Amino acid sequence: MPELPEVETVRITLLPLLMNKKIVSVQLLYDKMIVNNTPESFTSRLVGQTFRGIERRGKYLIFILSNLKMISHLRMEGKYYLKDESIPIEKHEHVIFTLDTGESLRYHDTRKFGTMELLEFNQISQTGFSSLGFEPFDDEFSWIYLKEKLAHSNRPIKGGLLDQSVISGLGNIYVDEVLYSSKIHPARLCSSIRDDEFKKIAENSKVILEKAINLGGASVHSFSYGDGITGRFQNELNVHTHADEPCNECGYVIEKMKVAGRTTYYCPNCQRM
Ligand SMILES: [Zn+2]
Repeated sequence: MPELPEVETVRITLLPLLMNKKIVSVQLLYDKMIVNNTPESFTSRLVGQTFRGIERRGKYLIFILSNLKMISHLRMEGKYYLKDESIPIEKHEHVIFTLDTGESLRYHDTRKFGTMELLEFNQISQTGFSSLGFEPFDDEFSWIYLKEKLAHSNRPIKGGLLDQSVISGLGNIYVDEVLYSSKIHPARLCSSIRDDEFKKIAENSKVILEKAINLGGASVHSFSYGDGITGRFQNELNVHTHADEPCNECGYVIEKMKVAGRTTYYCPNCQRM
């Protein structure tokens, strides 16, 4: 599942490829992915729109068009491809935006969980987009903000940090890495987290996401152009997917367990209950 660094990498990659290109037609082959619009209105309003920018909020991509914005969530398996329009449409390509350059931007999604929503600039989204919490790069984000959101919660800290209305952009991979770097057991209750630990979580969230963005994320298969790009951050993971291997800090064997319904990796020595 693409997380914030992967989505940011998709954004940075797509931006120069789409800027100032105009949509001349749209083919929608799977209606259910469109939120808050009829399929007819979605496709007809996009025709004639020009790409003016791409922004990102949490794990949502926001395509800025001439006078509309399109919010795209890749969910589990969504990917964008830019291809020559003459190349036949493949099985899992569900939305095809034909451009005035003879290229087509294609949204590919084997699981079909992704969503697209077309909005006026001042219109409020009807998806989870409108309830997103701050992300670690926001000025308003701090350990105090995290503490206010979580200190009274009796869920595991892992679940609290996965909650996109608390902190947007941390998913399963990065929460494991942030908790490892902060030396906090993922199953500890939010209410047991001390001030100095909230400080470490806030600091490590920013450092780890920044590093991941610089390395292109952990597993970018979310965009392909030519040979595509592959994230290099997966080589930097300390615990996630490293069960039964020695901890880089202490040599203890890394374990995995289910926390908040998600497979979670941790070092039982560095991250004590
Ligand atoms: Zn360890």
